[in-house]
Amino acid sequence: MKLAPIIGVLAIQGGVREHLASLEVAGATAVAVNSLDDLESVQGLVIPGGESTVMSKLAIHDGLLEPMRAARAGGMPMYGSCAGMIMLADRVSDARPDQEFISGLDISVRRNAFGRQVDSFEMDLEVQGIGGTPFPAVFIRAPWVEQVGDAVQVLSTINSGPRAGTIVAVQQGPLLATSFHPELTGDVRIHATFVELVRQYA
Ligand code: GLN
Repeated sequence: MKLAPIIGVLAIQGGVREHLASLEVAGATAVAVNSLDDLESVQGLVIPGGESTVMSKLAIHDGLLEPMRAARAGGMPMYGSCAGMIMLADRVSDARPDQEFISGLDISVRRNAFGRQVDSFEMDLEVQGIGGTPFPAVFIRAPWVEQVGDAVQVLSTINSGPRAGTIVAVQQGPLLATSFHPELTGDVRIHATFVELVRQYA
């Protein structure tokens, strides 16, 4: 049996519990991270959905922003969903002026990009590398990706409707990000992909 990697979920704001549960099902030992000691104990980190402006403030207040930046720069695998994608992006449109980020993922994202009428929606998506049937993706006031650097692999785009072609899942080495919330679906294939990334890179 393969050893379970220890994966943290940043637990200062947003949807923590569901990520912990999905990671456990996907074969990791999952721990909530809200201190420097917690951060130092994990081999990979999930940045959950929530509200990136609040997450940014609290991360600074709790003294976790710089350590997370350092961990990322040191090669720690990180997976950001929704607000977490924003936290990992190098360039963010429609951010608050005082908003800060972990950064490191060479993408441009736009906050709340899908607009008011479609605040929340669900859509089956083809996602590269997860195998099998399309993934039931839940979007909640989600960002989208407007541009990706050369080192970034696009894992999924919206495949129909007015937003066809919009990038909503990406990977760059040990960094993974989705506009949507896989933790709300009971389908752990995205989490399993991240568990494998942590095994590979940590
Ligand atoms: N709109 C939120 C933000 O900018 C993200 C929403 C989410 O994570 N569900 O942080």
